[in-house]
Amino acid sequence: MAFKPANKIQDLQYFGEFGGVNPSISDSSTYTFLSAKTMFDTFEGNAEGCYLYSRHTSPSNLYLGEALAAMEGTETAHVTATGMGAITPAIMQLCKAGSHIVASRTIYGGTYAFLKNFAPQIGIETTFVDITNLEEVEKAISENTKIIYCESVSNPLLEIADIEGLSEISKKNHLQLMVDNTFSPLSISPAKLGADVVIHSLTKFINGSSDTMGGVICGTQEFIDALRNVNDGASMLLGASMDSLRAASILKNLRTLHIRMKQHSQNAHYLAAKFESDGLRVVYPGLDSHKGHELFQTMMNTEYGFGGMLTLDVGSLDKANDLMELMQERNLGYLAVSLGFYKTLFSAPGTSTSSEISEEEQKEMGLSDGLIRFSIGLDNDIKRTYQLMKECMCDTGILEPQFALN
Ligand code: PLP
Repeated sequence: MAFKPANKIQDLQYFGEFGGVNPSISDSSTYTFLSAKTMFDTFEGNAEGCYLYSRHTSPSNLYLGEALAAMEGTETAHVTATGMGAITPAIMQLCKAGSHIVASRTIYGGTYAFLKNFAPQIGIETTFVDITNLEEVEKAISENTKIIYCESVSNPLLEIADIEGLSEISKKNHLQLMVDNTFSPLSISPAKLGADVVIHSLTKFINGSSDTMGGVICGTQEFIDALRNVNDGASMLLGASMDSLRAASILKNLRTLHIRMKQHSQNAHYLAAKFESDGLRVVYPGLDSHKGHELFQTMMNTEYGFGGMLTLDVGSLDKANDLMELMQERNLGYLAVSLGFYKTLFSAPGTSTSSEISEEEQKEMGLSDGLIRFSIGLDNDIKRTYQLMKECMCDTGILEPQFALN
């Protein structure tokens, strides 16, 4: 039977302390013990059901973690203060000095910077590859490789990773396949396709209101326990824990994720198809022209669509800047990084979210100056949005004036 991630979230039943329809929020950083012996046992990791200190975890964090694990189909999950607060400890838990990682070369700029600049300082080396080329991935594996790292839909180029193919390579070589699924929640379920660890920045679609940061690591109970271990757990010791109040608010937003994703996808698909027929250089995984379109179709939970992200290459940074400023002026969205908001957000990744990547490397991976990344919003009238965007493109010389009339 098809995996239904939104059903899995909805099937969970939580009650608050006094029968509330939402679980009570644990507004405490520390917890009392009835006996000193239980406190000792808890620190040893032997007292199930006891809480010790909220950096370790809290009831509210566990509720959110369980809902996200249900969504991804993993045994359990650990929520963190930010997406990077999920990615860096998950990697550091699996690697030590001398370890090697094979990573996609098109990933979020912060993750790229961590792997390229920070991890080598602690003896962890990374080979960056074209993740859509499985042969290249396999060739890059060495005896010290521990992880294959990728994003299901990559930031910002929207390349699609063949998760089943990568999982096969990963299993054959006894590696862990770690997939950042931030761009495609619900649409793609990486663990069901063979990923061992699934990461999200909750800051984006999952929370969906651009009012908080958050992250999650979804995986086996054994891995999550290891991350939280008081003696050598990377999450516990690096300390990027989520606050309970935030966990409670993200859980409430998670319940409408399926409705929002459908609308984001529908709107983005509409605009991408229109822009393409106007002759613009648009990249959207839902278009037949997208290199990974068929692969996406084989992996997707169809009802949520191809996601809310698209890119448009308008030829130069100056044109990109002119267009973004004009669209903001005309209230079509915000010139801002991040994604998953009700308003459309746009930015030029080459000078923002991927600026950590050198100009030369940007060129090599096909990240051009004029590329604008759009996170398409929940606009109720996307046809009107399209008309208004097209006018902006005519007024900035990106489209010929006659297009405004069509
Ligand atoms: N993963 C992806 C794909 C992202 O786009 C981002 C942020 O833009 C992150 C991870 C990092 O998440 P956060 O900003 O919540 O730390």
